Amino acid sequence: MERVDRRAEIELGLRAVTARVARACAAADRDPAGVTLVVVTKNRPPSDVRLLAGLGVSDVGENRDQEAAPKAAACADLPLRWHFVGQLQSNKVRSVVRYAALVHSVDRPRLVRALDDAAQRAGRLLDALVQVRLGSPQGQLGVRGGADPRDVPALADAVAAAPWLRLAGLMAVAPPEEDPRTAFTRLAGLAAAVRAGHPEATALSAGMSGDLEAAVACGATHVRVGTAILGPRPSPG
Ligand SMILES: *Cc1c(COP(=O)(O)O)cnc(C)c1O
Repeated sequence: MERVDRRAEIELGLRAVTARVARACAAADRDPAGVTLVVVTKNRPPSDVRLLAGLGVSDVGENRDQEAAPKAAACADLPLRWHFVGQLQSNKVRSVVRYAALVHSVDRPRLVRALDDAAQRAGRLLDALVQVRLGSPQGQLGVRGGADPRDVPALADAVAAAPWLRLAGLMAVAPPEEDPRTAFTRLAGLAAAVRAGHPEATALSAGMSGDLEAAVACGATHVRVGTAILGPRPSPG
């Protein structure tokens, strides 16, 4: 009974968010097929992931390896693409490359080297996004990680040059102190500059439950949504 209710709850959330993405695409004259919904399942049980897969979700995101690795293993039978969207420590990359198809959070040269080594050991090419810090280092409360915008071009070059990594594009979290549309416009400018040197880097991961419309308006190809689909998180994360 409870399981049936949870499924209905998630289905409702999914429908609402899919409709929001569709409206935002219509307003921006974009094809909704160009926006991938990544459902962020941090602090949710594997049973939620299973229900999401049953409802047609193809992409899920996690932000902590300690939680993601066992969850991905428990859901290995499902046809899902796993996204790693959180701050990544170098000592976790060997685990992350085992399940993640796309790492959104490359923000320093050391991590590029660690991921490239780990991807080589695992024998698989890994897609990677360079995470940009859009707020000031002091002002960006609660939003950790991300490279200084001035360091992004060199970091993108390093990812593109790493034999076992594929530069897919950029990612960012809007800083709480600023209108997300202003911040994402800056991100889009940076993404265009990176694409000038790396035409393959077409992905732009931006937008969460509260600001996905602004992100879609600014060209997001991946929105990362948790609470708007799965409800308030049971514990902080
Ligand atoms: C948790 C998280 C999200 C999802 O946030 P919601 O507000 O729950 O939609 C998106 N991106 C990152 C990096 C996250 O950590």
